[in-house]
Amino acid sequence: NQDEDKLTEYMDELEFLAFTAGATVQKRFTQKLTQPDSKTFIGSGKAQEIKEYVKENEIGTIIFDDELSPSQLKNLEKEIEVKILDRTNLILDIFAQRAQTSYARTQVELAQYQYLLPRLTRMWTHLERQKGGIGMRGPGETEIETDRRIIRDRITLLKDKLKTIDKQMATQRNNRGKVVRAALVGYTNVGKSTLMNALSKSDVFAENKLFATLDTTVRKVVIGNLPFLLTDTVGFIRKLPTQLVESFKSTLDEVREADLLIHVVDISHESFEDQVESVNNTLMEINAHQKPMIMVFNKIDDFSYDKKDEDDLTPSTKRNISLEEWTKTWMGKSKYPTVFISALTKENFPEMKKMIYDEVMKIHISRFPYND
Ligand code: GDP
Repeated sequence: NQDEDKLTEYMDELEFLAFTAGATVQKRFTQKLTQPDSKTFIGSGKAQEIKEYVKENEIGTIIFDDELSPSQLKNLEKEIEVKILDRTNLILDIFAQRAQTSYARTQVELAQYQYLLPRLTRMWTHLERQKGGIGMRGPGETEIETDRRIIRDRITLLKDKLKTIDKQMATQRNNRGKVVRAALVGYTNVGKSTLMNALSKSDVFAENKLFATLDTTVRKVVIGNLPFLLTDTVGFIRKLPTQLVESFKSTLDEVREADLLIHVVDISHESFEDQVESVNNTLMEINAHQKPMIMVFNKIDDFSYDKKDEDDLTPSTKRNISLEEWTKTWMGKSKYPTVFISALTKENFPEMKKMIYDEVMKIHISRFPYND
């Protein structure tokens, strides 16, 4: 049953996001509707069912996988009497927790204000803000209650600030001169930071949560005497809030201006094909899909045949697959150079490095045709 598999997978991802934000999920509710209810998003029977569950189990927050309209949020909060977050809010919160540079913090603040503006009159902003918690990090209470004009002014200010930093970053990129630039792209949590660390011997923050990477990191990497710059970009994710797509423009600039993309895929994830597609769509949107690319299928140490049937997972279903065997699969038949590795155990690293070297060298030679 494909629809149900998809649903479970979406809910798994949402639960992972919630976990990343610091919440524990108690129960999942789903409902099939031909279209969302314009007033409350879900039907009134379902709302009642949730309300009862919330009361009985002292649930603090309900999280929706979609972005709800401001009025839907308000109506539902009134009806269920609990704090409600949607996917956008949750993702913004995670970004707020993880923003490290002043640039990232400015971007998140801007996105939060843009999200907040049409939602100023919500009930729990008064009740819950003192207590803090998910969805509460960011603009403080007094600012929220101030009138919209002030928030609009703030948005203008933040946009100006970003423009200034954007210019500085563009200059920095120009100053990097003609060194070949490669960017790690891929869905969130596929192992980009781990690979970055392994290749540059640096210490980029890597953990099993979504969006461990917020700010781009640029490192100099040398393979076989050939130096190039490697950028670790923010993880792509399905249904990224539009406010973020806009405000993380400069993050994507690193991708747009890269000479070579290294597309990392988590082969142990049961829906890695969807993730690849999602990344490719984003690349298309920012017009970076025609760049030279290397496909790196990662986590081969964690690959097992029957992932979906967890009970059936015996060590025998995990077996060592040689690079030659991998290459014969459909994945190995892509139009891009493709390699299968483990960023953790460094399996097949020499092959990957050779592949990166070859691609970087091609670009290098096209730039300095008379050098040797
Ligand atoms: P990013 O979000 O793409 O930067 O992913 P990270 O580098 O933060 O890695 C996400 C998680 O996957 C971390 O828990 C890593 O330890 C884990 N991971 C990365 N590479 C591998 C690998 O080759 N094999 C296994 N089993 N886990 C990996």
